[in-house]
Amino acid sequence: MVEAADRVAVVVGGASGIGAAIAARFTAEGWTTVVADLPATDVTDEASVAAMLDGVLAEHGRLDLVVNSAGVSTLGNVVDLAAEEWRRVVDVCLTGAFLVMKHAGQRLTAGGSIISLSSLNARQPGAGLAPYCAAKAGLSMLTEVAALELAPRGIRVNAIAPGLVVTPLTQPAMDIPGIEDDYLANTPLGRAGTPEEIAEAAVYLADAAWVTGEVLDINGGAHLM
Ligand code: NAD
Repeated sequence: MVEAADRVAVVVGGASGIGAAIAARFTAEGWTTVVADLPATDVTDEASVAAMLDGVLAEHGRLDLVVNSAGVSTLGNVVDLAAEEWRRVVDVCLTGAFLVMKHAGQRLTAGGSIISLSSLNARQPGAGLAPYCAAKAGLSMLTEVAALELAPRGIRVNAIAPGLVVTPLTQPAMDIPGIEDDYLANTPLGRAGTPEEIAEAAVYLADAAWVTGEVLDINGGAHLM
């Protein structure tokens, strides 16, 4: 087995929130960890994703893990939502995830893996969150398809589906009175998660040699409600 000290991880969307916690955790575990984020790397721009991964390979000579934590959301009901807002969220959360998966899959060292950030909203609808929910549902299925396709090359593809974690992404929704209480009333363990708890799941999936095509619920039991 390759020692942690020799392994190279890229965390796309790693400048903030969950991605930043994942990058910090892999660094603490001894991996060489590269953070990719806007403005240098835009997951909606295929050339920028490919160039970033080529750069990592050129500098470090191997690529063992690509985590995609890039994500955006918007609030608005289906009947009110501008088509550009729909496209903006789907472009980052689904097409962006596809582009990261495509180019990671082409370049990962044998035995490597991909971890995407899906969401509880992939399986649990949220009013006002249509493009986000639809994109994350698509990302969960994309994870399963890519896992099948990349298995013959020894590359594993998994996702983590967090429940509520307070980060810059979710803070605007938390500012709406009553929303946080509603979430927590529907979370059996009665609290939001932390970015570090999501990073713990990423460490597990990175080393789980017989796990592929898994979308791991990390949500305090909220998927049971
Ligand atoms: P965040 O806003 O703190 O971080 C998201 C990161 O994505 C930011 O650094 C941002 O710059 C980057 N990003 C956005 N658009 C990008 C683009 N086009 N190209 C590259 N990077 C881009 O949010 P977070 O809460 O840490 O979310 C991380 C991931 O976890 C997202 O995919 C999100 O959908 C998912 N998620 C979050 C929660 C939660 O409760 N926070 C729950 C479920 C899933």
